[in-house]
Amino acid sequence: MWRIGMNIFYDENIDLKIRLFYVLALTACIANTLGYLTNMLLYGMTAATLFPLFCAVIIYAASAYGIKTKKTKIPVVLILVICDLIEFPVLYCSYGFYRLSYMVLGIVATTLFLEDKWRIKGTSALILFDLVFIVWRQRDPAFFAAFAGKENMSSVVITFLIAGSSILMLLSTLLKQYTRQQKCLEEMTKDLRWMANLDPLTHLYNRRYLTQYLEEKKADGENAFSVVLLDIDDFKQINDTYGHMFGDEVLQTFSEILLKHMKGQGLVTRFGGEEFMLVFHTTDQNKIQQVLNGCADDFKEYGMSSKGKPLTFSGGASVFHGEDMLVKLFNYADERLYQAKNTGKRHVVYDV
Ligand code: GH3
Ligand code: MG
Ligand code: MG
Repeated sequence: MWRIGMNIFYDENIDLKIRLFYVLALTACIANTLGYLTNMLLYGMTAATLFPLFCAVIIYAASAYGIKTKKTKIPVVLILVICDLIEFPVLYCSYGFYRLSYMVLGIVATTLFLEDKWRIKGTSALILFDLVFIVWRQRDPAFFAAFAGKENMSSVVITFLIAGSSILMLLSTLLKQYTRQQKCLEEMTKDLRWMANLDPLTHLYNRRYLTQYLEEKKADGENAFSVVLLDIDDFKQINDTYGHMFGDEVLQTFSEILLKHMKGQGLVTRFGGEEFMLVFHTTDQNKIQQVLNGCADDFKEYGMSSKGKPLTFSGGASVFHGEDMLVKLFNYADERLYQAKNTGKRHVVYDV
């Protein structure tokens, strides 16, 4: 039962404003019912009983209307006006010190329910309004003695329990929502950051990630690595002959082939268009050559099986020699790729 009740306040499918209204309506109804029932037992059908009963009837009606229609603006204003401007000052003037907790509850609720533009002004006005009664009662106790109600232990306990649990419920509903939204925002930011590093077509890391990755590698003092820039041969012709869609498929398959052969060897990235950059955790040319031969065989085979024509790529490799700027490393690889393109394509030109 308790869990079901709490779920209504925490249910994210229900608008936060409505959930806060449930807390307000529930506590206002309970407090007023207890108020007139207690007074009825203590004083019978006197003004002290009729007053909370009259307030309770309005609060019941406002609560029922708000819960039924989900239009909470007018009910909230009605409940807050009755509580903040009538009941809480009257209770404080009659019973004194312990009823201050209701005024605090009123201030918290007003802060939460007032719209942004009214929040500071409205709550400040309420604080001043309450202060007038507090100071007045302190300065002229004789005047208020005539309205003094009988304070006893159980009414003090009930007052604190109602005010304390209402503040707890209002704030915990709000904070739970805040925590949930923070978590959601963090996850979205993480996803966005992740997506910003990936190429949407091949799902490989993009050039942005590559640069970041190499900068970090350099900063960590890792020097034993090489980069290889690969470029698919005559790719424009592939697009022109078989269509752009097949061109995309070639890029995706080439990416898969690279990933398969680079497993445990280093990083595969799409540098742009039909160019890919590999980062090897080695400077050993034989090892690099071995991996690239495997890629070339698979790519050729894929071309043969899909269009009856071998697909090939050219490449330029560059070992990291402590270059101060990454662009220099990329330029060396690019120069060697250019050499490979000018010397018959279908092969990779290495560092030395
Ligand atoms: P080379 O052998 O000298 O490298 O010639 P190439 O035809 O491969 O090179 P070129 O630079 O002339 O053409 C590259 C083509 O790649 C042109 C461009 O339309 C195509 N391209 C770039 N990005 C994509 C893509 O995401 N999908 C497809 N289908 N084509 C792309
Ligand atoms: Mg190119
Ligand atoms: Mg090309």
